[in-house]
Amino acid sequence: MNILVINSGSSSLKYQLIDMEGESVTASGVIERIGEEMGSITQRSHPDKWPDAKSEEKRPVLNHDAAMRLMVEKLTGEEWGVIGSLSDIDAIGHRVVQGGESFAAPALVDADVVETIRANIPLAPLHAANLVGIEAALELFPGTPNVTVFDTEFHQTIPAKAHLYPIPYELYEEHRIRKYGFHGTSHKYVARAAAEFLNKPLEDTDLITVHLGNGCSMAAVKNGRCADTTMGLTPLAGLMMGTRCGDVDPAIFPFIARTEKLCVNEVDEMLNKKSGLLGICGMNDMRDIHTARAKGDERAQLAFEMFAYRVKSFIGSYLAVLGRADAVVFTAGIGENDPEVRALACQGLEGLGIRISGERNGKRCAKGRCISADDSPVQVLVIPTNEELEIARATKALVAG
Ligand code: AMP
Repeated sequence: MNILVINSGSSSLKYQLIDMEGESVTASGVIERIGEEMGSITQRSHPDKWPDAKSEEKRPVLNHDAAMRLMVEKLTGEEWGVIGSLSDIDAIGHRVVQGGESFAAPALVDADVVETIRANIPLAPLHAANLVGIEAALELFPGTPNVTVFDTEFHQTIPAKAHLYPIPYELYEEHRIRKYGFHGTSHKYVARAAAEFLNKPLEDTDLITVHLGNGCSMAAVKNGRCADTTMGLTPLAGLMMGTRCGDVDPAIFPFIARTEKLCVNEVDEMLNKKSGLLGICGMNDMRDIHTARAKGDERAQLAFEMFAYRVKSFIGSYLAVLGRADAVVFTAGIGENDPEVRALACQGLEGLGIRISGERNGKRCAKGRCISADDSPVQVLVIPTNEELEIARATKALVAG
């Protein structure tokens, strides 16, 4: 079974074709600058066999329909093609950022699902392009089942006491303002992989999953179900991120607007795109920050410490939420690759049962592994995330009935 996983953004389209027998990636690609004067496509075919080979081409890509046709051209083309025709694609899985309260599980796309996703757009207007991608796929692949997998669905089990904000209740009733959480596909994938690693049934496993990439979030997972998460109505809340501020005093928003004489959209942009690591030290890539720290850059050091401090604070908070934990699980770009952030975030938590092994933490390995000491009551794991595979698995499960 070949499943095409699509992540349609406002100006980009990412895709992966996954052969579910062996769960191997047949091709992966990204089309960028859709709608701009000049766009581009990059595709890797059979990356397992040829990790360094890629096809790169520049050409204008008018809109998402054109992007979808370009993707098909590459997937079936003579030089880089991996399938004979469209009919070799058995199902399509779409990443959708906001499922609102309507979706607690993946959905097989029909007219109702499309309309429900459309009704949720006001909650995440920046991600309206998810629906554009679904509609383009429905047109180009008539008869092929399409499945939507939502970033929010894993978090729908969070109880009201944790997902409601202490603001006038009517705002929830009228506009559904509440915590939704994001990165759910990643948290779900690593939670299941961690339970497998620990050799425990997921429904008996308590975890704190820590997704540290360009965007960062954490989840408290009780008996395999999400009990709380750090992101909120939008992906701006919670941890400090590459360019997003995470939790701040909400009164900062009007304060900045008044003192800097900025409008709502300008403050929104400042907190989303000019804050976080970038706001503190002018760099948003943790690798650059380490290079700068090594040269004595004090702001880079401060940004690094602030970043790890917030992760640590939420580990403590989520241990309280869960009462106990089998493991803390680090994942995504920083979580998987950065022993210094992991070490600082867990430093001093021995009293809470978290004891990292310096030697294990320092070792590089592309597979899931344990980095805590043998006598650590709470294990600390590093598990590579794979959101595309999670979407493909969910798509297969739904299509296969
Ligand atoms: P992601 O969003 O999961 O792709 O993560 C992207 C981020 O991971 C980048 O912005 C970097 O800050 C970080 N990253 C990637 N590789 C490394 C590494 N080897 N060491 C530290 N940080 C890394």
